[in-house]
Amino acid sequence: MSRTMVAGNWKMNTTPTQGTALVKEVMNKVPNPPTKVVFGVPAIQLLAVQKLVSGHANYAVAAQNMHQEEKGAYTGETSAEMLVDAGIEYVILGHSERRDYDGEDDELINRKIIRALEAGLKPIYCCGEKLDIREANNQEVVVGKQIEQAFSSLSPEQVAQIVIAYEPVWAIGTGVTASKEQAQGMHDYIRRMIANQFGSEVAKGMTILYGGSVKPDNAEELFAEPDVDGGLVGGASLDAENFAAIIRAIK
Ligand code: PGA
Repeated sequence: MSRTMVAGNWKMNTTPTQGTALVKEVMNKVPNPPTKVVFGVPAIQLLAVQKLVSGHANYAVAAQNMHQEEKGAYTGETSAEMLVDAGIEYVILGHSERRDYDGEDDELINRKIIRALEAGLKPIYCCGEKLDIREANNQEVVVGKQIEQAFSSLSPEQVAQIVIAYEPVWAIGTGVTASKEQAQGMHDYIRRMIANQFGSEVAKGMTILYGGSVKPDNAEELFAEPDVDGGLVGGASLDAENFAAIIRAIK
């Protein structure tokens, strides 16, 4: 089975009207994508976008967050069960913006991952170092610790359901992309770490995405690296032409 995936993260950028139009345009441009394509959409658009992709084997939808509890008095929150019932396949967890603005840490993300897996959702788990860490060449230690905490107490079977998105924080929304060597180096490190902790079969099958200023003109060289299985794309996923070009960059 192919490990490849291109996921868009629209963040808080589309109205329902714009989101529906964007999905239709992308699907028109790439009716038969060479990879799994996931639209990470705002909560209010999940149902409408799921309806548009249902029946297309290579298109799926991700929520951008969910709550760690099963249900109850959590005003404004969305549960894993709600997402599953709506037909949603993936949930983005641990994005750096939620870590920064909402105080999420890997302990909380671990609870969310467990909740998602119990409910039957596949997490797209985001990790990555900040600029000072990269400058001190400590990215492996820091990202290794993030993954270790976030995956704590998980079984190999559970880890096999997770997609990892390596997103160096200094590359997100900045226009500065990691070089293909930097991306490959970290993806290789992450895959070896997963192999050590959860077994080589799990590591071999794991989809590891790169995120941080992926664009049509750098996607192909990034995706050509042996351990870069695709991308988690923010800004460039908001334009159908750009996102289509990035999808086609998967070989
Ligand atoms: P970017 O965002 O592509 O705009 O850098 C990536 C992300 O935040 O997932």
